[in-house]
Amino acid sequence: MSRIVQPLAVAFLLGAALMLFVWKPWEQGHADEKPHEQGAFDPDKPAKKEQFGETRGGANAAVKEIAFDGDRAMKYLKQLCDLGPRVSGTDGMAKQQELVVKHFEDLGGKVTKQEFEAKQDSRRDKVKMTNLTISWFPDRERRVILSAHYDTRPMAHEEPNRNDWRKPFVSANDGTSGVAMLMELAHVMKDFPTGVGVDFVLFDGEEYIFEPTGLGGIRGDRFFIGSDYFADQYAANKSKLKYRYEAAVLFDLFAHPGAKFAIEANSWYKAEPLVRQFWQAAADARAGSFVSALGIEVSDDHVALNRVGIPAIDIIDFDGYRKHWHKLSDTPEQCDGKQIAEVAKVVTTWLQGLK
Ligand SMILES: [Zn+2]
Repeated sequence: MSRIVQPLAVAFLLGAALMLFVWKPWEQGHADEKPHEQGAFDPDKPAKKEQFGETRGGANAAVKEIAFDGDRAMKYLKQLCDLGPRVSGTDGMAKQQELVVKHFEDLGGKVTKQEFEAKQDSRRDKVKMTNLTISWFPDRERRVILSAHYDTRPMAHEEPNRNDWRKPFVSANDGTSGVAMLMELAHVMKDFPTGVGVDFVLFDGEEYIFEPTGLGGIRGDRFFIGSDYFADQYAANKSKLKYRYEAAVLFDLFAHPGAKFAIEANSWYKAEPLVRQFWQAAADARAGSFVSALGIEVSDDHVALNRVGIPAIDIIDFDGYRKHWHKLSDTPEQCDGKQIAEVAKVVTTWLQGLK
């Protein structure tokens, strides 16, 4: 995850005086109020039925118990972190691509590489990036996305001592945990009982940040390069494509023990029916980490997907992981196979409800 947009969090970082200087809240209004203009949060309000369409899941679906080995997911997580940093365009990223492509192909997934070059504002040269899509039931026209970013940040920008920024940062729960969950899920995808096609999408370039914030009001580096490219290509080619994405779920900072998932605010305001559907699946799966409360607003890869009309939600517990976020301590030791398995159970419950 790259960024939160909740003003209070920014206030923590900048200090009250600077906050007033930058935001001039008396001129702009409080940014936190903006979402409320679009409709109040009320999880008990029944959703309009037509919003669910044919993809309505929920308590009535006959849900099978799907095998998911949390210990093996942790093994994958460690395997990826053992590669060291996996920054876009580096050898570490190339090694990871080789490992995951082989893994998914061996389990029957169809892997598509979306290769492109990107120029980050603060860098002199372009860098090669690759979004990976692993397709299950590739012939189905109605499709959903399960996604995570799989690149790691070049520097541990939240370390208080700048000398630590350049030390190897493995980003275990920030992106990598999502990849590990999908690697484990791949074992059951070939014959999975669902009515839709499923694409695992691994985004590159989410973390390719060298200058997180600009000085003196100049903006910092561009976030979400991979998901922006993916979304733009989807929008540009939509008329020619034989499939449609009906929903997308993004996983980020979700694998730590005791994680709590309030509803991320962008997800709620851009994809409310999908939030309801997924949280219903969480209730059906008795996943106690999902909470029916509106959480903070997070900028993440789901924003680009919503921008091009793919309803997309972010399963994230930023507050619960803040102390390790973009720090060297974001290591596999902070993650828990049982927590990954609980989120995976919600995913498999949700997928089974899609007819
Ligand atoms: Zn991050």
